[in-house]
Amino acid sequence: MDKKILIDLSKFRVYSDKSCDNTPPEGFFTNSPNTIGFKSIREMAIFQFTCRKCEDAPCINVCPFEALEKDTEGMIHRHTNLCVSCKSCVAICPFGTMMSDFFKHIKNKDLFYDLSDNHELHKFIKACPIGAVSLVDMDENPDENIYKLNDQVLIKENIWSTEKQ
Ligand code: SF4
Ligand code: SF4
Repeated sequence: MDKKILIDLSKFRVYSDKSCDNTPPEGFFTNSPNTIGFKSIREMAIFQFTCRKCEDAPCINVCPFEALEKDTEGMIHRHTNLCVSCKSCVAICPFGTMMSDFFKHIKNKDLFYDLSDNHELHKFIKACPIGAVSLVDMDENPDENIYKLNDQVLIKENIWSTEKQ
């Protein structure tokens, strides 16, 4: 694939906030170490870019099944085999990092699209909220809030920072 997949997280957030019945599709890559436990691109992006990496992370503390863990870089990971979708972590996060629909898909594999497959990729784009996913010919550009998730995916998100502009 020459073009990159650009995912605009704000468009997903608006879509999810409109109604708790709104369940957007999820994209994932097969044969990628990042998809261990069937994690969606959106989950990876949110923990990498949206999460503020709290020192004493309330999401980890509240999880009744020890499904969340912080790595040495301070990034949160969810063990999908332990998570029961109780959403306590969603409710307690003071920054609204996770979208309300975030862990809905655990049992609904129909909403997952394998982005390694060109046909599924196009179906995924069509199924997503309008303008939320597009194919682009560009690289990471922090001035436009566009960041590299991996070699194939760019994420558009307003990232919180303590650095003075
Ligand atoms: S509470 Fe929210 S912002 Fe803090 S580490 Fe957990 S997910 Fe990230
Ligand atoms: S949804 Fe519940 S079980 Fe899953 S990670 Fe969050 S707090 Fe833990």
